[in-house]
Amino acid sequence: MADQTYAHLKDEIYYNELYDKFTIEECRRWEKKEFWDVPSIKDEDPIKMKIKISFADKVVLPVALYAIKGERYAKKSETIRQWMARDKAKDDLVTNATEPRGIRCLVCSSPMNCISRDLHSDDRDKDRVLFMFECPNKGHKRRAYWESGEEWEPRPNLCLKCKAVTNPSHAREGNIITTTNTCPQCGHKETDTIDLNSKEEKIDPNFEADRKKYCLSEKEGGEYVSWMANAKNLLGSFKEREQNKEVYEAIAKVKTLAIVDLQNLLNPLIEKAGYTKLEFGKPEVKRDLFVEFTVQDNKPGRVEYDSCHGLEKLIKKNLEGTNWRLMSEGISYKLGFLNGRLRGASGEENLKEMITGKDTNQE
Ligand SMILES: [Zn+2]
Ligand SMILES: [Zn+2]
Repeated sequence: MADQTYAHLKDEIYYNELYDKFTIEECRRWEKKEFWDVPSIKDEDPIKMKIKISFADKVVLPVALYAIKGERYAKKSETIRQWMARDKAKDDLVTNATEPRGIRCLVCSSPMNCISRDLHSDDRDKDRVLFMFECPNKGHKRRAYWESGEEWEPRPNLCLKCKAVTNPSHAREGNIITTTNTCPQCGHKETDTIDLNSKEEKIDPNFEADRKKYCLSEKEGGEYVSWMANAKNLLGSFKEREQNKEVYEAIAKVKTLAIVDLQNLLNPLIEKAGYTKLEFGKPEVKRDLFVEFTVQDNKPGRVEYDSCHGLEKLIKKNLEGTNWRLMSEGISYKLGFLNGRLRGASGEENLKEMITGKDTNQE
């Protein structure tokens, strides 16, 4: 039988307006100063109090409002996507549910027709599909079944005070229905009214004007998002500097040597240590500068091991505190002829890598 299905998923315009409505409500609450009419603003001194209020009015509120508007914008499309996905999932659940078969009327035993299916929360507050059945003979009581085939049973009304089961009575006056729940055990009484007239949502006359005021356009929203991203980056780099304070202090102390300074530094030292003819090859320019060097051993009778290690130690020691390092492959030796490679860094980022040992010897 044809059964009606109530669609949960609505047009995107609906979600767009709903989201903007929440944004407007949040901003209005801020403008009413509900959130910050707090003791921290209060001051005994009327002059100070005046200054505080004016500061809050002119600075705190506009900044806070801008941030609220911006954050609402930033989360808008993702929130709407989630809402729509949630409602589509509900529709899928309803559409794909299998109608229970063979339901008969309790009065006349006629096979009943399914007239609707929709989601309802069960006694564990879980959303499940409920099917409503009607007898072809008018006036016979309807029956409702869960997809699983269990018959729906009304949830008992419990007394809020003693949890005894109560029996509500309903009275209708025009379009107002009053439900009264009187507890048979403790006598506690509760009334609830439903106004059928107020079902239609009242139109907020300021919606459109406030929407312009509080809901950022794509251009304004985009500006906020990129402003925020910059602020976060800036904050991130401040934090990084704070956490690596020692590294940055060390960078500031590094003595930066050009190749000629390097030559002037090393030449007298190697001569003194019994080497000669320090020469540099053609430098290789990557992010850092890599340059090969050669030296001749000038000390008669010095063996390979002593020659290599002597030079390595000397170079390492004297490059400390400068922007130069001996590459980890060390120094090689052949018939009194030694060679190795040096790496020179420039710029804060590269020096930082050299000092922290990250990226060492990577070209
Ligand atoms: Zn019937
Ligand atoms: Zn009670």
